[in-house]
Amino acid sequence: MIESGSLESEHELISRLSQLAICDPLTGLHNRGTLKELFARILQQATTNRQSVGIFHIDLDDFSAVNKLHGQAVGDVIISRIANRLRSISGETDTIVRTGGDEFLLISPSDRPDCDFSAKAHHIVGTLREPHALENGKTIRVTACVGTAIFPRHGSDDEDLIAAAELALHHAKKIGDEVSAFSPEMLITEHRRLILGHDVGLSLERGELSLVFQPQADASTSAISGFEALARWQHPDFGAVSPADFIPAAEASGAIGAIGAYVLREACREASSWTNGLRVAVNVSPVQIERGDLVQVVRSALIETGLAPERLEIEVTESLFIQNLAYASKVLNGVKALGVSVALDDFGTGYSSLGTLRAFPFDRIKIDRSFVFDMVRNSDAAAIVDSVLGLGRAMGLNVVAEGVETEEQLRLLRMLGCQQIQGYLIGKPMPAGHYDAVTGKVSKHTSRAML
Ligand code: C2E
Ligand code: CA
Ligand code: CA
Repeated sequence: MIESGSLESEHELISRLSQLAICDPLTGLHNRGTLKELFARILQQATTNRQSVGIFHIDLDDFSAVNKLHGQAVGDVIISRIANRLRSISGETDTIVRTGGDEFLLISPSDRPDCDFSAKAHHIVGTLREPHALENGKTIRVTACVGTAIFPRHGSDDEDLIAAAELALHHAKKIGDEVSAFSPEMLITEHRRLILGHDVGLSLERGELSLVFQPQADASTSAISGFEALARWQHPDFGAVSPADFIPAAEASGAIGAIGAYVLREACREASSWTNGLRVAVNVSPVQIERGDLVQVVRSALIETGLAPERLEIEVTESLFIQNLAYASKVLNGVKALGVSVALDDFGTGYSSLGTLRAFPFDRIKIDRSFVFDMVRNSDAAAIVDSVLGLGRAMGLNVVAEGVETEEQLRLLRMLGCQQIQGYLIGKPMPAGHYDAVTGKVSKHTSRAML
């Protein structure tokens, strides 16, 4: 027979255990395991009361950096303070759930059927953005992104609503906004992204990939000095897919290895058929470098096609150097040791352009087309182009201005002493063979006539 005293403590124990099972111990908020039940109850009440419900998917930006820089204990303190801030701005009928390490859901019923919840989303990010003073005197600022979805407009159950808020969150991150509201177009974009992510792995064997070649020219004479190879994908359902869309998909799925090797081989094969000895430039993604076999892949492409190494250039962006500078330099030195040159692409758009230039002996810098686009109307952009050209001269580097579309841009670039240009003014990216008859010395007149 159990004594009544121990019966009570057993009750307490059970209630404490069940509390633990539904609560996040660090913050005291609901945890992921309770989501389904919570949603069922809230949505049922909202239906009865003819309310709408805002679902806010909150994600802290780069929170792992806080743990890495300040330690797990500080990370925990910040998370519990964030939970408190969310509590402080929640209404009585709001529910907050910690769904992951640095992710939260706030579920907020409203009596106003037309409530768009956007003011609340902005209030959330504004409140979370306030700095946190630590006991050691330091201050940490943590920012957040919020994606919102609304019941019943965007879904009738927990799964649809959470997915909608998550899509909105991804959209916010992608476009660099703090807040984004779900819209049905996001589903279409996501659907397309998933299909492309799957199909990109099949694109090679289905023969849907090809290359186009865009001329690079001497700025003072407009004579063509080389070509950049650019990948193209003709998808059976979506038609032409931009490399800006499918290269990231190939990177994510791992297909970039085979696709990158194909691009290198095809570009070298094409260039080896040019009788004028012009150079071909090939874009290489950071993921190709991380794979560790780039030197081997470049060497095989050269051997297979018989192209002289000095006629090949690879273009890399500086995001590569931000992740792992030592390793990137090692691989690129291996490429240079083959006799192949290396250009720094999209110069000026990265985090620490000067640092990257010091980190590796590039042969060339390509000024990003956004600066060329702005330089005629914006003196800041012109000053940036001018200083990159000065930097190139000081470091003995060739500089190519990308995206040159107008005579005015060309005139300004010549005035600033730019040696090389690339852009629609000289020629658009075209299939192999298009420029064959004119490679080598192309008069300005002939090149314009080809556009
Ligand atoms: P990128 O390397 O900066 O290539 C230049 C992009 O600017 C090309 O877009 C080209 O068509 C476009 N462009 C050239 N001249 C002009 C101009 O005068 N005006 C304007 N507005 N645009 C111009 P594309 O072909 O869509 O390529 C986009 C990006 O995709 C490339 O940017 C490159 O980062 C990536 N990419 C393309 N092919 C490959 C590839 O084979 N491998 C890898 N890893 N990335 C690739
Ligand atoms: Ca490029
Ligand atoms: Ca570029």
